[in-house]
Amino acid sequence: MQSTAVRNCIRCQRPLGEGLFCEYDGTFVLDSEGTIVMAGRGERILAWLISALILIFTLFIGWVIWWFLVAPRGQNPGKAVVGIRVIRTNGDAVGTGGMFVRGLAGQLAGLIPLYLDDLWILWDRDAQTLHDKLVNTVVVRAQGSEKIVERGGLGALPEGVTPPPIYGPPIRFSSAPSPGSTPPAGPPAPDTPAMALVRLAELRGKDLITEEEYQEKRRAIIDQL
Ligand SMILES: [Zn+2]
Repeated sequence: MQSTAVRNCIRCQRPLGEGLFCEYDGTFVLDSEGTIVMAGRGERILAWLISALILIFTLFIGWVIWWFLVAPRGQNPGKAVVGIRVIRTNGDAVGTGGMFVRGLAGQLAGLIPLYLDDLWILWDRDAQTLHDKLVNTVVVRAQGSEKIVERGGLGALPEGVTPPPIYGPPIRFSSAPSPGSTPPAGPPAPDTPAMALVRLAELRGKDLITEEEYQEKRRAIIDQL
């Protein structure tokens, strides 16, 4: 379930959409302090290239050792060099086990032709790969998200916000509002005659209108029916 009120980004104050990040400055919407920011798509690609280079030049061995050093912080060697990290979509930390499963999911999704799994970040709203969606992770800047590693997750969520389900639908192809999302703000719905009668009775009950006014207005409402 989404929150019922339209919320604004804690950093830029612009209204938040349905994504996990502010579409203007990338602030993670579940972070009440506003320090966690989405990793750039360019940074993601750079991290992937650096990881591949480290793999080749260290004949896998150095990469694996390095991986065990940084995986507890939600990183692999390429991500550690670039300064980005993996967290859960609900704001929880991802440790060594989580990074291993995500890596495995990446290997599996890598079987999809045309590198679609990794290229998905280019058009995905939250810059998720398909394997990110599979294991419910997003990639954020390392700077500002250290607290997730330290605390194991987010502290208090912003008021009125519930984290997304841990196993949500993996892919949303349509940008149409999902059921349960906040309808756009508009003028309030006009009163029904029944509501008008109730309010009128309330006014009389509080002695805010005379009995004559009450009867007159009551007749006017009933005449409209
Ligand atoms: Zn913002």
